[in-house]
Amino acid sequence: MEGHVLQNVVLPSGQLSDIYMEKNKITAVRLSSEREKLAPSMRKTDGKGGLVLPAFVESHIHLDTVLTAGQSAWNASGTLLEGISLWSQRKQNLTREDVRDRAMKVIRELIGHGVLFIRSHADISDPKMTALKALLELKVELAEIVTLQVIAFPQDGIITCPGNKDRMEEALRLGADGVGAIPHGERTREDGIASLKTCFELAKKANSFVHVFCDETDDPESRFLEWTAALAMETGLCEKVTASHCSASAYYNEPYFQKLLGLIESSGIHVVVCPLINSSMQGRFDSYPKGRGIARIQDMMRAGIPVAIAHDDVLTPFYSYGDGNLLQAVHMAAHLAHMTGRDDVRPLLDTITQHAASVLGIKEGYGVSEGCLANLVVLPVDCLADAIRLRPKPLYVIREGRVVAHTPILMTEFSLDSISIY
Ligand SMILES: [Zn+2]
Repeated sequence: MEGHVLQNVVLPSGQLSDIYMEKNKITAVRLSSEREKLAPSMRKTDGKGGLVLPAFVESHIHLDTVLTAGQSAWNASGTLLEGISLWSQRKQNLTREDVRDRAMKVIRELIGHGVLFIRSHADISDPKMTALKALLELKVELAEIVTLQVIAFPQDGIITCPGNKDRMEEALRLGADGVGAIPHGERTREDGIASLKTCFELAKKANSFVHVFCDETDDPESRFLEWTAALAMETGLCEKVTASHCSASAYYNEPYFQKLLGLIESSGIHVVVCPLINSSMQGRFDSYPKGRGIARIQDMMRAGIPVAIAHDDVLTPFYSYGDGNLLQAVHMAAHLAHMTGRDDVRPLLDTITQHAASVLGIKEGYGVSEGCLANLVVLPVDCLADAIRLRPKPLYVIREGRVVAHTPILMTEFSLDSISIY
């Protein structure tokens, strides 16, 4: 492939620049004002003054459940419990084609929103593991366009649903990137701890990722985050471990929370917060004032814990909205975490770029600098804060030097004769 230059884009530092790409990499980043004559064979893409960022990373989504909301019934209570019950009916009818078709529709939406790295859970409580196998096929087939990781997720528990342990092991043999657990969903606290130990034992053997659904409840007594961090240290899996949701941590008493912060930080694990679904699902059993079940993002980040924000569900029995726009999740987090200051903008965007990349184990070659892989988004805004305020679709999405999605800039045409608008 001949060279490709992305011209007139604003770097996060605010400088109008050109990004030179050769094959799949960024070879140079130069100020647009210092542009030299380009070889005629060089392909040019005009970024029109848009903001360039590394492509977004969705660190927690369920591509097997997407677009199934309302197919048996709509979740009327809005609770996790009703969601699990509705999904257990719908999953009886899963077929390979059904999972592939729905997942592909949402992957296209995600790419259109600038997401080129995805970690999806696949519920393996189904004895045939239909969803997992279908997603592993897509992982291979789509590798050039999008990086897809698949986590074997035991939605019905590991101790409560004993067949899941063997299926998790089989999933790792089939090519799953990691295994999960849902300790707060097990029958007892002791079973929850046992489920975590099983999950870590399997991951340790396979040297795989661990992605725990952790304390997704408003119960301040739910304390599986400490076990997740302790087991991460004990097994040495450390940064390969992620705890998602951690809703209960919003209700912990202060001395315990401060102790926990230190433990999480020293364990090296990641925390993924899903503000769209949790703001809707948590607090359903509260009277007023209602808790919103959002982990303490700001405190965790200040303590040096890599926090990622994820979109999670798209039109599922658990959450009846969602469109794949990660900036929507960041916007929600900015409100719920009281992160609306100008100094909060950069850390918020880190949650869907650097920190989320770290969840997926992407360490090198991620970014907008020379030597990085050319995985980029150009947003039609000229500053970081407007990315969150306006949450637009990217003008261009670039996968390893190649434009894979283009959304023209939306312009409103006014017909108000008496008002002069330009
Ligand atoms: Zn989820």
